[in-house]
Amino acid sequence: VLPTVAIVGRPNVGKSTLFNRIIKERLAIVEDRPGVTRDRNYAPAEWLGHKFHIIDTGGITWEDGKIEEEIRAQAEIAIEEADVIVFLTNVVTGVTDLDEKIAQLLYKADKPVLLAVNKADNPEQRSNIYDFYSLGMGEPIPVSSSHGTGIGDLLDTIVDNF
Ligand code: GDP
Ligand code: MG
Repeated sequence: VLPTVAIVGRPNVGKSTLFNRIIKERLAIVEDRPGVTRDRNYAPAEWLGHKFHIIDTGGITWEDGKIEEEIRAQAEIAIEEADVIVFLTNVVTGVTDLDEKIAQLLYKADKPVLLAVNKADNPEQRSNIYDFYSLGMGEPIPVSSSHGTGIGDLLDTIVDNF
């Protein structure tokens, strides 16, 4: 049985873009509007010879769900199914109330939770991630899912936690 990695985060942080980047195929649908995508949400992936499955929990849709209910369901799926949870936030919006709610849900996970800060597209944004320590999830890992920066470091940390 392969390890499973789940990506959790509020809408529009870039979960599907990161998922696509990790599986290196554009299988998920990237949408600006939250709650309307029917993404492919489960795929095999590999890094440095470590095979695993990755889940984009935001791609599992509840058409009429309120955002907070969806996020609670995402977190529950991740806590149940995943061996490693990637909690994705982004540097453009900074830490939001929803990020804090997700952190609260993930504190009870008996699994490693890696905090990744997406949309860190340039050196200034990559160095502007200290606010994310306030989420209590340890060291934030800056990534740019659209440019590909930092993805190798994130994957190294993921496979270290298998
Ligand atoms: P999701 O709702 O969390 O799945 O987010 P998506 O992957 O659909 O991305 C939401 C928006 O953020 C899209 O317009 C993406 O193109 C954009 N986006 C995703 N990753 C990055 C990134 O690393 N940098 C920038 N600047 N935009 C990104
Ligand atoms: Mg998505």
